[in-house]
Amino acid sequence: MIQAVVFDWAGTTVDYGSQAPIIAFKQAFAHFDIHIPTAEIRLDLGLDKLTHVKKMLANPAIQAKWLAKHPETPIETAVTEIYTEFQRRITAVLAETAQLKQGVKELVTYLEANQISYGSTTGYTQSMLDRILPLAAKQGYRPQANVTSEQTNGVGRPHAAMLLAAIKQLGVTEPRNVIKVGDTVNDILEGKAAHAISVGVVEGGNLIGLSQGEFDQLTIAEQNELRNKAAEELEAAGADYVVNQLSELIKLIPAINEAATQPQVETAPLLLTPGPLTTSRTVKEQMLVDHGTWDDEYKEDTQQVRAALVKLANASKKTYTAVLMQGSGTFAVESTIGTAVPKQGATLMIAINGAYGQRMAQIADYLGINHVDVVFDEDEVTGLEKIMDKLAAHPEVTHFAMVHCETTTGILNPIETLIPKIHAMGIVTIVDAMSSFGGIPINVEALGIDYLISSSNKCIQGVPGFGLVIAKRQTIDQTAGNARSLALDLYDQYQCFEVHDGKWRFTSPTHVVYAFLQALKELAAEGGVPARNRRYAHNEKTLRQGMMTLGYQPVIDEAVQSPIITSFRYPSKDFNFQKFYNYLKEKGFIIYPGKVSTIDSFRIGNIGQVFNDDMVRLLALIKQYSVVEV
Ligand SMILES: *Cc1c(COP(=O)(O)O)cnc(C)c1O
Repeated sequence: MIQAVVFDWAGTTVDYGSQAPIIAFKQAFAHFDIHIPTAEIRLDLGLDKLTHVKKMLANPAIQAKWLAKHPETPIETAVTEIYTEFQRRITAVLAETAQLKQGVKELVTYLEANQISYGSTTGYTQSMLDRILPLAAKQGYRPQANVTSEQTNGVGRPHAAMLLAAIKQLGVTEPRNVIKVGDTVNDILEGKAAHAISVGVVEGGNLIGLSQGEFDQLTIAEQNELRNKAAEELEAAGADYVVNQLSELIKLIPAINEAATQPQVETAPLLLTPGPLTTSRTVKEQMLVDHGTWDDEYKEDTQQVRAALVKLANASKKTYTAVLMQGSGTFAVESTIGTAVPKQGATLMIAINGAYGQRMAQIADYLGINHVDVVFDEDEVTGLEKIMDKLAAHPEVTHFAMVHCETTTGILNPIETLIPKIHAMGIVTIVDAMSSFGGIPINVEALGIDYLISSSNKCIQGVPGFGLVIAKRQTIDQTAGNARSLALDLYDQYQCFEVHDGKWRFTSPTHVVYAFLQALKELAAEGGVPARNRRYAHNEKTLRQGMMTLGYQPVIDEAVQSPIITSFRYPSKDFNFQKFYNYLKEKGFIIYPGKVSTIDSFRIGNIGQVFNDDMVRLLALIKQYSVVEV
């Protein structure tokens, strides 16, 4: 709410066209036989007058004029002499130009009626101001606090000091509840510097720089041109609002007050990216409270999260456990690989058909783990036959890792066919189900998966901060001492949770855990994983079909397409993804660039707090874009 208004003087509340300083400056210079063009003086109006004189005399052209006329007087002395002369002249001029501008009296009446206090700051000195104040008071304008730079140790505009002093004297604590009004760029800067609301006034101000008589003689078109030019300059300086006349504030103030009471509209764009993704407001709200990690309640909440995850995996808590690991999803993958695979006598086979399979191979390289890669094309699933052939050729394989939904393309790999067969061979199985867990039902226990990995910021719809591993107890119990890293020791992390009833090793992402707990509740309220899967699948179907109608071809065959994320080929060779991205971003949707190495493509995610309506809106926008661009 606006509590106070602080005005400038010349050109704002009195002295139409800000004539007084111009006349006095001209007279002061003329006294020394120097003629200064008006435009030159107007350039720095609004500064305190001594600074203004110094600034003019720093101008080489003016210096040259001075030295030509007064070769024996140095510039520093000239500053003092001209300033003294200016002070003498302005006193007389002020009295002649102290008439209130149009609209001031109405505005002041409004302010008084609404208990809004008002004051002034000025580039004039105290003695000049003392001359004006009674003249203004006689006309009904009596600002309650009046500050010159003599009250702020000589610090004037464009700094905030004078305005902050005036605000304080007016008894207001928050500068954002104050409007600063002025006609010069320095006024606007002063308001911005103090974090007040800066309002520029155009008519009768310095930027137009004409007397009332001169202005009135112009044609309407000429007047408008001058107004627009002045308004542009004030806006360029950062003015929050620009008005023609002060009386317009009578409408502006209630409008500002009303806007302040409106709830903030949701302007955040929708993330159609598969993690981080769009979360619900209620999930985000959980992060407004800070929690300690030693708290019993927090430990219980962590246990609740772990138990819920085992349940989501369709596993029994007797046979399975859930281990949470600080960091992004990759930290949990690295932690699992680095802890599951023993340091001696072990070989890891990795099925690869995209960037996340590749990343597991890279992790194995970093950790010095023997690995055999089975590589597929990016638009081909990790098929049984090729893997079985490779396993037959590599009897030394003890561990097997694969990605469920390969987020690189959105292809869904057949864990149901592969895992039970590989598990039956006595091989430990690791599934990166990062982007699918919570969005696609997975029977971890029935399939015999030893480790299933996901993270807080994918289909469970939490915020980023930790990874999670659903592990078969019998398997993880045998991994003590395997880890190649202290922080990423999955076994040790598991033991700490077990032995200390939900205590995290090292600082835990408390806010993320609370948000995640809420996300789990919302998943249950939606109807669990099957219901969420239906929503995502609906989103995907709408998107895929709609895009095809618009001429965009999916990269992945429908039979093996996941409901998580969909890749589309560029519609033409010269398709500009950045432009397309920027267009959608401006309209409120963030999409993903492609990750397929051999095909120019982009991706659109179907997961998160995103509904069929959103997809319909997105398609309408893409249709508009396509009409113009494709
Ligand atoms: C998101 C994701 C990851 C983890 O990526 P981070 O950036 O480390 O969170 C791993 N695998 C798959 C399949 C993913 O989709």
